[in-house]
Amino acid sequence: MNFKQELFFLKKIINILIDPEEELFPKMEKSLSLILQKVRAKQGSIMLVEEKKKQANIVAATNKKLIGLNVEIVPETISGYVFSTGEPVYFKDVTKSKRFKHVVRNRNYKTSSLICVPLKRKKTVIGVINASDPEKKEYFSEHDFGLLKDYASMLSPLVENSYLLSQLKQRQAKLEQVSRHLAIKQRELLLASRERSELVQMVVHDFKSPLSAVISNLDLLKYLGLGEEQKHIVDTALDGAKKLLEMINEFLQIARLDAWKETKTELGPMNLLPVVERVVEEFRPLAEEKNIELIVQSAPEVEVYAEENLMYHLLQNLLSNAIKYTPKNGKVILGWKIRRSRRKSDKFPKFIIFYVEDNGKGIPKGHKELIFRRFKRLERDAKIQGTGIGLFICQRIVNMWDGKIWVEDVEPTGSRFCFTCYLTGEKNA
Ligand code: ADP
Repeated sequence: MNFKQELFFLKKIINILIDPEEELFPKMEKSLSLILQKVRAKQGSIMLVEEKKKQANIVAATNKKLIGLNVEIVPETISGYVFSTGEPVYFKDVTKSKRFKHVVRNRNYKTSSLICVPLKRKKTVIGVINASDPEKKEYFSEHDFGLLKDYASMLSPLVENSYLLSQLKQRQAKLEQVSRHLAIKQRELLLASRERSELVQMVVHDFKSPLSAVISNLDLLKYLGLGEEQKHIVDTALDGAKKLLEMINEFLQIARLDAWKETKTELGPMNLLPVVERVVEEFRPLAEEKNIELIVQSAPEVEVYAEENLMYHLLQNLLSNAIKYTPKNGKVILGWKIRRSRRKSDKFPKFIIFYVEDNGKGIPKGHKELIFRRFKRLERDAKIQGTGIGLFICQRIVNMWDGKIWVEDVEPTGSRFCFTCYLTGEKNA
């Protein structure tokens, strides 16, 4: 055979072996049939070592029944011998071999001429190619043996790659199955946890009305001419009930926040001013009770990247704190300033800094970050009703739109709570 034909043959077989779409068995079968044609053998097989090295997998065979079988590697067989020694063997007539004369009888070969060559990665045997039953002749020649050895050494890496690729595909398929299974489980768990949290929310929500009734009754009792001792008892009960109501409200806020997160509440452009006006109007009576001046200052109309409910709860918490922790006759100012984003990772070119400023006692040094933790309260405010959850919720809300929240000092006294929020489009800035 001339060089060109040989090249053509190799190209053909390489193309088969490197085809990523083709499955392992058809690939090996096609390669085997081409190789057997070359050495003019009627029968043959390709076996590859299994991962644990004790077995070989028959990946191609002229006898189709054998394909896919795993066989023990035992040195008493010819392929077992080649697997364990890495030496190619050629028997012009195997019945003349003392060691292997039995194999022809056992395996029902039609002739007694056999070749078995190793497929190797460096010195490690990764498989073997068997050829038997020479076509139109009685025995294989040394030339056939040489050819098979050459093909085996040239094709070894490609055969191994095909094998590894198929194992990877199998593993990938298994992983995909596992991940599908996990996704289903996760969805089930999520549903279960959502159902549970909805149930808890419902129950907690149902506490609200009887508790509100208790509070108004206790309030009423105070005006029924109670003695000093009785009044004290009623006041204590009233304080406890109010605290419980506040805790329930906070709990419901957190639960709602989790629900928003779970359902992946969509953030988007929203008009800030109407939400601010709504909250300010709601708090005005409370401010007036303490004669606190409530001022909306520097408030350009803007469209921010947020969500109305979240923004509403955030502002409610900050404003309620400002009024709660500022003494009578104080002042609370709120507003927002537009700033240009500097970081490349910023979603929008501009953002706002929203501030709620009061002239209360301020937040002492060393506590400015701590107060955003869950249940964290300043000892000095123990007598003021509170749960220590409000600012924690504020931080979680601001995190949802990748914003920041912090507190700074106001001179001569007071604190300024600030948070950022991206600007989507601005009007009359
Ligand atoms: P709560 O108000 O229910 O105690 P928060 O999480 O809203 O919980 O606040 C945590 C603590 O931070 C408060 O207990 C209070 O000590 C302090 N604090 C919050 N806002 C102010 C403020 N505007 N001025 C002074 N202290 C504040």
